[in-house]
Amino acid sequence: MSSYRDHYGRSLEYLRVSVTDRCNFRCPYCRPETGELYDPPADHLKAAEIARVVDVSRQLGVRAVRFTGGEPLLRRDLPDVIAAVRDLGVTDLALTTNAWRLAKRTKSLWQAGLRRINISLDALSKDRFRRLSGGLDIEPTLKGIDAAIEQGFEVKTNTVVMAGENSGELLELAQFAWARGLTPRFIELMPIGAGALATHRRIDVEEILQAFDAVPEPQNEAIRYGRGPASYWYHEGNPHQKLGVIGATTRNFCASCNRARLTATGGFRPCLASNLGYEIRPLLRQGCTDQELLNGILEGMGRKPEGHRFHEGLAGQNAMRGIGG
Ligand code: SF4
Repeated sequence: MSSYRDHYGRSLEYLRVSVTDRCNFRCPYCRPETGELYDPPADHLKAAEIARVVDVSRQLGVRAVRFTGGEPLLRRDLPDVIAAVRDLGVTDLALTTNAWRLAKRTKSLWQAGLRRINISLDALSKDRFRRLSGGLDIEPTLKGIDAAIEQGFEVKTNTVVMAGENSGELLELAQFAWARGLTPRFIELMPIGAGALATHRRIDVEEILQAFDAVPEPQNEAIRYGRGPASYWYHEGNPHQKLGVIGATTRNFCASCNRARLTATGGFRPCLASNLGYEIRPLLRQGCTDQELLNGILEGMGRKPEGHRFHEGLAGQNAMRGIGG
């Protein structure tokens, strides 16, 4: 176990690796309607480069990796990326995806070593799904969920809750997940990137939980808080009905933050809510030593803020799809 601690005494255990800044969805809290600029594909880190960053990060304590985007399934060599990290001996490997292109790829992802998948599902209503995804149908995502379950993945659904949009559908979304043995998670809208323009749509965690008053077994819930950002609620009457909520704004968990992010182009970002970090692609492509790479990562971690300052409106300039959600 590494003894690394940042300026505020926090460890580094978890790296979120964005493998592309492209996405086939256009979620209102992530991608703006116009004015997007994409990174040139040549700037995207290759599988071996990503694995090298993970390998050196392990010296600081990283032992879990989640692959994100953009939409990571848009990257054809995703299984190669995952396998390269698995081959280092990292076994805690997870993926966050909209699942639209998942159905035909579950086998190759499983063979690469992936075992856990979080699937974004902001609506079940076909019309709402089409509107929130930027015009795509829900069926491929539903097929992707079924295929992931069939393959044996541990699956969670992620729903970003938006007032006047999907806020009336939360119970249905939870029941959809529970009926398949999955854990639904509900996320407060964060004022990051395009989400900064939609803060009036944020529904706080307390209000999200109220939406579940109608579930038959909610009396005497036991509330458990894990080490990650999600709080999980177990209904005593039915322990299989687990529910996660993530309230970055109203339940600030920065003091126990144990993660950092790697952008698709090799930006080491210690905090989702800050542009500060260290660009390590130039180091990698100039043939740096492992010590030089470690120094770059440490430099990036040294810029990790104590926490977000959402209330001061300081995170709105970040593009969520560029930093990996
Ligand atoms: S806002 Fe930054 S410090 Fe706070 S939990 Fe998120 S990544 Fe960690």
